[in-house]
Amino acid sequence: MDVMQNDKLMVIYGNKALQMAYDIMTAANVKGMLSRDMKIVLKPNLVVAKPSISGATTSPELVEGVIRYLKDNGFNNITIMEGSWIGDSTRNAFRVCGYQQLSDKYGIPLVDLKSSRTKTCTYGGSSVDICSSVLEADFIINMPVLKAHCQTSLTCALKNLKGCISDSEKRRFHSLGLHKPIALLNKLLKTHLVLVDGIMGDLTFEEGGTPVEMNRVILGLDPVLVDAYAASLLGYAVEDIPYIGLSEKLGVGSTAINASTVIEINKADAPQAKLTPSRKVAHLAAYVKEDRACSACYGSLIHALNRMDENGTLRKLNQKVYIGQGYKGQKLDATGIGICTSGCTKSLRGCPPNARDIVEFLECK
Ligand code: SF4
Repeated sequence: MDVMQNDKLMVIYGNKALQMAYDIMTAANVKGMLSRDMKIVLKPNLVVAKPSISGATTSPELVEGVIRYLKDNGFNNITIMEGSWIGDSTRNAFRVCGYQQLSDKYGIPLVDLKSSRTKTCTYGGSSVDICSSVLEADFIINMPVLKAHCQTSLTCALKNLKGCISDSEKRRFHSLGLHKPIALLNKLLKTHLVLVDGIMGDLTFEEGGTPVEMNRVILGLDPVLVDAYAASLLGYAVEDIPYIGLSEKLGVGSTAINASTVIEINKADAPQAKLTPSRKVAHLAAYVKEDRACSACYGSLIHALNRMDENGTLRKLNQKVYIGQGYKGQKLDATGIGICTSGCTKSLRGCPPNARDIVEFLECK
């Protein structure tokens, strides 16, 4: 059987994650891309310590399907690696999301990339510090969740690699506006296969809480093509998500999708409902003045504003709330969230502060 081609994507529909992972890997003949001695790294999205039913994280059953496929075909050098977002513990995420159990069951090491050494990698005069453990892999299987993101609209394959850098590098990415460094990271860290958990995602928040059943798994070799397709599923054009086009310009992959690009394995089971991103975040963002905020910080504020909306206290906010590294060292007659806004007349410390503290702070203001 021929192996999957770079310019193709495969989709399988359903909700049985383990079997779907196994079947789609078989259909793509992934074993034809591997050799026995390869060090294979699985990179799920465990951005926060919440189970996959929250819509935030990669299903451990999907990862189990990949492990079984690899082991059944004689590939045993497998490691799971991830670094959760700033303010969350990857170890905790491994436990809460069911990965510790997977590790125990199959004897697969878990690597917390927050504790990994880093190596400075450079392209075109710009550099990124990337976790050395991932760089040492021979074959990286990127396993993102198909989700909305309150700053970049979409998070899928390309953005999932942010878990492969340190917390300080994540902060620097935000200070650079995210899109360019995400594209550069993907140029410097090549992944070999993408398997998207599109079974349960979240079309409102990256950190889950408003899960949506999407009942599909997408497989591709080119992360740019995967993200271009993921964007189209959510009704976005490639231009709406700048890091996709920037990655294409850097030669990471192609956004060219045509009628023969997508191979649907079980087309008859395709869900009929369209995937529509929620407008909720856009409504809440109208209360925010943001300049280069980290995802965890911005996410906490959006969650807090959502809570206030439900409590009926949001409409009492008569000034926009400042947030982000762009306000560091500035004296402002404003209310700010996070240590970066400590120059505001009123500011909530924390890096990042949590949503509950933000609600309390803003409601008592
Ligand atoms: S306060 Fe928020 S925006 Fe500033 S560095 Fe910390 S997490 Fe990032």
